[in-house]
Amino acid sequence: VYKRPVRIETICTGDELLTGLTADTNSVHFQNRLLERLGVVVRRSTVVPDLRDDITEVIREVAARADVALVSGGLGPTSDDLTAECAARAAGVELVEHLGVVQYIRDRFQKRGLTVSANNLRQAIVPAGAEVVINTEGSAPMFILKLGRCTLFFVPGVPREYRHLVDTEVLPRLVGPKQRRVLCVLKVMGLFESQLDAKVRPLYASHPRVTFGYRTQAPENHLKLLADDEAALAPARADCLALLGDHVFAEGEQTLAEVVGSALKAKGHRLALAESCTGGMVAAELTKLPGASGWLESSAVTYTESAKQRWACVEAQALEKHGAVSEVVARQMAQGVRAAAGVEWGASVTGFAGPGGGTEANPVGTVYLGVSGPGVDVVERQFWPFDRERVRRAAAWGLMDLLRKKLRHD
Ligand code: ATP
Ligand code: MG
Repeated sequence: VYKRPVRIETICTGDELLTGLTADTNSVHFQNRLLERLGVVVRRSTVVPDLRDDITEVIREVAARADVALVSGGLGPTSDDLTAECAARAAGVELVEHLGVVQYIRDRFQKRGLTVSANNLRQAIVPAGAEVVINTEGSAPMFILKLGRCTLFFVPGVPREYRHLVDTEVLPRLVGPKQRRVLCVLKVMGLFESQLDAKVRPLYASHPRVTFGYRTQAPENHLKLLADDEAALAPARADCLALLGDHVFAEGEQTLAEVVGSALKAKGHRLALAESCTGGMVAAELTKLPGASGWLESSAVTYTESAKQRWACVEAQALEKHGAVSEVVARQMAQGVRAAAGVEWGASVTGFAGPGGGTEANPVGTVYLGVSGPGVDVVERQFWPFDRERVRRAAAWGLMDLLRKKLRHD
């Protein structure tokens, strides 16, 4: 990996990180961002328990060899939160109360109708000479301390606060405009990671200044392109898009549910769902989006045969002749909910999630996805030889992806 001559280390404090209670996901976030933005790999990552001597010692050690250190955790109000005290000790400075933070904590508590305790105000105590940054996601502030040539960033351990401060306060201080790397993430459906890799690999040679990476969030796969500048990135992105075509459903932070939602919104159309083996998972994904009521009409969890008949207008004969997991029933479910709801689009999923059940023709892992819309009437059969939870997720994602394609092309 491409490295710049800057040595960055991380320190995480907390007994829970050493007892197997909590995994250090904070560092993962920072490492990802650092690589994306700066092309720098963290040189060493240390985890220490909530012990004064250990924290002080590791701060001294790291400050002696690193240019930048990110210290996470132990800034809270409880007696096991020792980081500010240890930082002061390591730097040989006093602890002082920061009046701006005191005021911020008082205001914050007042707004929530809570009374401030002496413990809470401990969080306003920082090493003398530190630069203090208010933490809008929580009470404990972030502070920055210079120790010799090393700049140390101290941030709270709560993942939400940590990520917010890393993204908005730490990284902008590390990455100058000239150094900023560019990144693009293409999100892909319908290809396994190995297939994606095999397809994209031949492009590597034409783009020597681009780093290609993969990440799986089954059943999605993400292709990450990283480069020093737009001039290197843009042609690689264009080649990948041309190569992968309709498999690419989104870029960057956008989700599959968002793509489906915005397509419906753009058309001014509404959707009704009939979900069997996914038990409402598609609806749960779609309703994560604010404003979903503008385009999602309803979702029926039609788990039994009788529910499929009553709520999705499936014919008893079809169930008897073809079984609940069949092309005919998936088609009737999609058409049925669409008609019952009186909306432009109906979509359905029925399948065997396992571990029991299944037939010879449709073994466990078989799902049928149906979409009915203006000029659209399709059923797709998919087979996912996975465990129950993965089959359900694959089916839900499969249906959203089918909807996406049909919404785009109708
Ligand atoms: P608080 O104000 O909540 O006390 P803090 O700065 O003292 O914040 P910690 O007490 O160390 O932070 O941790 C707060 C929460 O964040 C705990 O639930 C802890 O398990 C979690 N946490 C701490 N460090 C990490 C980490 N490196 N990765 C993931 N979670 C973490
Ligand atoms: Mg704490």
